[in-house]
Amino acid sequence: MNSGSEAVDRVLKGQLCTGCGLCASVSGGAIVMQMEAPGYSRPKQLGPVTPDAERLIAGACPGVVVAEWEEAPHTHPYWGPWRQVVTGHAVDPEVRFEGSSGGAISALVIHALQIGLVDRVIHVKADPQNPTRNIVTCSSTPAEVLGGAGSRYTASSPLTQMDGILADGGSIAFIGKPCDVSALRRLGEFDPRVARHVPLMLSFFCGGMPSHDGVERMLATMGTHRDEVTAFRYRGRGWPGSAAATTIDGRVFEMSYADSWGGHLSKEVQFRCKICPDAVGGVADIACADAWYGGESGYPQFNEQDGRSLIVVRSEAGERLLESARAQKALDVEALDINEIDLMQPSQARRKRLVLARTAALTVTGQPKPRTRGTHVFEAAKAATIGEAGRNFAGTVRRIVLGRR
Ligand SMILES: Cc1cc2nc3c(=O)[nH]c(=O)nc-3n(C[C@H](O)[C@H](O)[C@H](O)COP(=O)(O)OP(=O)(O)OC[C@H]3O[C@@H](n4cnc5c(N)ncnc54)[C@H](O)[C@@H]3O)c2cc1C
Ligand code: SF4
Ligand code: SF4
Repeated sequence: MNSGSEAVDRVLKGQLCTGCGLCASVSGGAIVMQMEAPGYSRPKQLGPVTPDAERLIAGACPGVVVAEWEEAPHTHPYWGPWRQVVTGHAVDPEVRFEGSSGGAISALVIHALQIGLVDRVIHVKADPQNPTRNIVTCSSTPAEVLGGAGSRYTASSPLTQMDGILADGGSIAFIGKPCDVSALRRLGEFDPRVARHVPLMLSFFCGGMPSHDGVERMLATMGTHRDEVTAFRYRGRGWPGSAAATTIDGRVFEMSYADSWGGHLSKEVQFRCKICPDAVGGVADIACADAWYGGESGYPQFNEQDGRSLIVVRSEAGERLLESARAQKALDVEALDINEIDLMQPSQARRKRLVLARTAALTVTGQPKPRTRGTHVFEAAKAATIGEAGRNFAGTVRRIVLGRR
């Protein structure tokens, strides 16, 4: 008798798992998250999954289904639903400096704590035992929020304890990858506690989740090893800020963002990310990103400067928070034309217009794929040239046939 989750089995077989942790959260201990080679967070089934848990997994797992974008005054096929698009930064220089780009996410949730909108923030931070890895954390002070600031380009499963967190009640801000927020929104379709206890979901544009092998290679290139690292940050402390590994003997090894993301991490991204129909946090209340300045090459420049976030406000709740944060001088922002994002985020634009070609390759090879209805995949694909769509379709078919996703 197969008493495990059929949805999880199918998702794992199709390499569609994002590692969000939702299945473990709703399984009552039947599923746990564990690290698997080459360093992704994946569910392991330990016991039978109840029909109720299976219903939640099949309805919310982002390997099965992606949350539909909701109605908003405007919707862009790449950049999602929006009410306001601004660039800006935290007014507090410490938050701006510690943050990944302009510290907007941290500033917004600190403000949400200060005005009593939420009593705690669920997000991730460095694991003190394994500083290159992530753990889920619950922050209720500005200092705790800042302890998790900065982008961490390795596996995270921020939904792993969500069932217990919802049972504890109160009012929560959740920060996660777009797929994590999609899973939580979908869970809310079945579990009314999500609407009751999570008034705020924040996300960021996501270029993909690198395996932990990526950071191991970074450490080797930097001249150190995980066993001697006592603290590690991927970026932040400036914009973009460098990766920094502190070792037991107090030495600090650094690597630029261009080298860490461009030279190592971007090459280690899991398959699901290459077909991601919503990597811009389309169902978050607010999604933030790097408001990179364009260079002469037409590609963003990563010269070190004061942090600047792109802030896409999607929901009414997000708009109320942004306005409150502006009025109380937590955030300094200025309006941006939505079409300017194409110049800041060319890789995101490219991937979105090619999702249809890549998922068509899954269809013709009989592979499972996530349901993407309501994420404007078809509309985005109209901007792809026949050549790039054809190359991506053929390349994906080839990789599937050769077993090299
Ligand atoms: C894997 C990954 C890929 C990214 N790809 C892009 C991209 O393609 N384009 C782009 O513009 N920006 C990308 N970003 C986001 C960008 O780096 C910044 O996070 C974003 O601009 C927000 O900056 P901030 O200063 O407002 O956030 P901060 O104030 O620094 O707050 C960041 C928050 O994100 C949370 N966080 C960090 N790492 C993770 C993680 N792995 N999983 C879940 N939560 C996490 C932290 O807990 C923190 O609360 C990516 C981030 C990650 C982690
Ligand atoms: S994507 Fe999330 S819910 Fe789906 S199998 Fe992976 S960890 Fe579980
Ligand atoms: S690219 Fe998409 S699937 Fe991959 S981690 Fe980011 S949001 Fe999740």
